[in-house]
Amino acid sequence: MIRPLEQLSLAILKGVGPRQLKRLERLGLRTLGDLLFHLPLRYQDRSRLTPLADLYPGLETWVEGQILESGIAAGRKRTLKVWLGPVDLQPGQMAFGQGLLLRFFHFSAQQAAAFKPGERLYCYGEVRLGPQSLEMIHPECRFQRGQNPPPLGAHLTPVYPSTEGFSQRQWWALIEQALALLKTQPLAELLPPEVLEPLGLPGLSAALALIHRPPLNTPLAELAEGRHPAIQRLAFEELVAHQTSLRRLRHTARQQSAPALRGDGSLVARLRASLPFQLTAAQERVIAEIAADLGQSRPMRRLLQGDVGSGKTIVAALAAVQTVESGLQAALMAPTELLAEQHQRNLAKWLAPLGIAPVLLAGRHKGRERELRLQAIASGEAQIVVGTHALIQEDVVFRGLGLIIIDEQHRFGVHQRLKLREKGRTQGLHPHQLIMTATPIPRSLAMTLYADLDLSVIDSLPPGRTPVITRAIPDTRRDEVIERVRVACLSGRQAYWVCTLIEESEVLSAQAAEETARALQARLQGVRVGLVHGRLKAQERDSVMGEFAAGRLDLLVATTVIEVGVDVPNASLMIIENPERLGLAQLHQLRGRVGRGAVESYCLLLYHPPLSEIARERLAIIRNLNDGFAIAERDLAIRGAGELLGTRQTGSVQLRIAQPLRDHSLIAPAQRAADLLLERYPGRVQPLIERWLGGREHYGGV
Ligand code: ADP
Ligand code: MG
Repeated sequence: MIRPLEQLSLAILKGVGPRQLKRLERLGLRTLGDLLFHLPLRYQDRSRLTPLADLYPGLETWVEGQILESGIAAGRKRTLKVWLGPVDLQPGQMAFGQGLLLRFFHFSAQQAAAFKPGERLYCYGEVRLGPQSLEMIHPECRFQRGQNPPPLGAHLTPVYPSTEGFSQRQWWALIEQALALLKTQPLAELLPPEVLEPLGLPGLSAALALIHRPPLNTPLAELAEGRHPAIQRLAFEELVAHQTSLRRLRHTARQQSAPALRGDGSLVARLRASLPFQLTAAQERVIAEIAADLGQSRPMRRLLQGDVGSGKTIVAALAAVQTVESGLQAALMAPTELLAEQHQRNLAKWLAPLGIAPVLLAGRHKGRERELRLQAIASGEAQIVVGTHALIQEDVVFRGLGLIIIDEQHRFGVHQRLKLREKGRTQGLHPHQLIMTATPIPRSLAMTLYADLDLSVIDSLPPGRTPVITRAIPDTRRDEVIERVRVACLSGRQAYWVCTLIEESEVLSAQAAEETARALQARLQGVRVGLVHGRLKAQERDSVMGEFAAGRLDLLVATTVIEVGVDVPNASLMIIENPERLGLAQLHQLRGRVGRGAVESYCLLLYHPPLSEIARERLAIIRNLNDGFAIAERDLAIRGAGELLGTRQTGSVQLRIAQPLRDHSLIAPAQRAADLLLERYPGRVQPLIERWLGGREHYGGV
């Protein structure tokens, strides 16, 4: 069988030996197809040769000149300096400082010696303003030996994402070969004209040729921002591939069997009767959706979205109880011990009247303690199991897992979720899955990221909550803010003080929080200050949280570990330091810790001026809006999906080229195209999925 071009190994290209193959593989590139879909980071315009007299800072260009002088300057950093003047200059005509200074920091003695006065050069680089003159740092240089013409580009020059030991020149050589092959063996066109034409998108091979070798008149901004039809074309095809894969997956899932969880309703009724509050209409609606799914003999795959504080936990508890009622186990997995413990406590409180004692399994359970818990899980004595990642370890064996609930799903990798699901497989039956998230994802985006999941949304908060009043205050007014904390705490209310750091370092943020706690305690006589951060042992953290929840601490200084789930209704003031460093979704989550009781709550964003334009805009959004979904929509509009969701939060889908926000308008057409392909061009489905998802199995939000 002749393999299509895109599946050929990169080894067939000139210049690709075993070493280069390894390097390419590090970038995920194995085949010609991978190479062709390795898109440039940006482009350069190398088509112009600018006279020395016309240079200005910021310009990236070729220049031509003769070397007036060169030498190595010693100092902190050995530097090779080469002075370039106009080619028609007679020696001694021009004072140094008027030409262009080339600076090199990495050079061999041989290279240094090559820069002899009188030699003529072409240099390409970015012009900068140096202390004495215009400069180029590490320009690309070509000596003008004989009459060689300037090496001007006939098209825009791509700059590829690279890896060590791979120069741009090597990329160009590879791509050049790939494009030549593409001319004689175009890639299979998998999207039919009736799909492409109405969208005005080019064919695949033409799109690739343009992206790797844009004609000089191609609008650079359109390319850079991904708005150009050639890039849109690739993004579109990728979205179609994902939609097709998700639809197939959903179809397969529909054919799997699950235990139908139809108890007699007595336990569920007792739980409802014992609740200290009335469920909201929104909760009732999603509870009914879930209960109906659980009663089916195919596995539920449902995403439950609800803003912070919307009451997802009780919804999960009711689903778990329905499972228990049918004689099977339910597992609830949370991303942190703090959260798992809180869930366990809440469930234990609600379920005590029913005689159900949820079992906690966390990383800190070791030895005998862990052994006992594992036994209870294996025997089925533990009807409901709450835990962290500890739940997916090898030695955890369930007796009969009917329902998996994942809280704050974005904190888990796809594989972790998959592992838990595998544990639930018994005798050909798959467990039901309920995936909960407080990261509000606009529906359009959710449809791309989780096209294979059903969606339930709790769209209103329980009554009696007053919206949190949010204010942005510069940290020059820190003293005032501390006074406010004093007043609040001394009048019986409680407060959070959240410290943030740019570094993703638990050690540093723990230190910062410790420092802040000390300083605040020194300032606030009579206020009981507690401290939690990720470096504390789970038990210490638990006991501090417990003290705070019980009202024996007034002020809780914390890192962002308190972000998810923690619930202390008497806390009505939150200070967030350096809010400009956090994403809006995260700020909104943090703020959700207050405003849980009946008193008016405040969130003070203690920012460090000056703020950038975007930071100002974002703080304004968080000040003006209280609805997580509305915030997400706005955040999406100014920042893009990638940032909104964070790298680990992009759901089940790993996109290479498409960006859900940027390519928003392509999503609906991609869904229609996926349906069309499945129906009328079934033969193209596999190659399409192969091309875009390759060996990466699509777990689809599992
Ligand atoms: P989240 O959706 O953020 O996980 P929780 O489940 O933690 O929210 O609920 C937040 C708080 O609201 C908890 O104290 C919970 O007991 C309470 N709660 C949940 N549902 C209701 C309701 N219908 N009425 C009043 N309080 C409720
Ligand atoms: Mg929660």
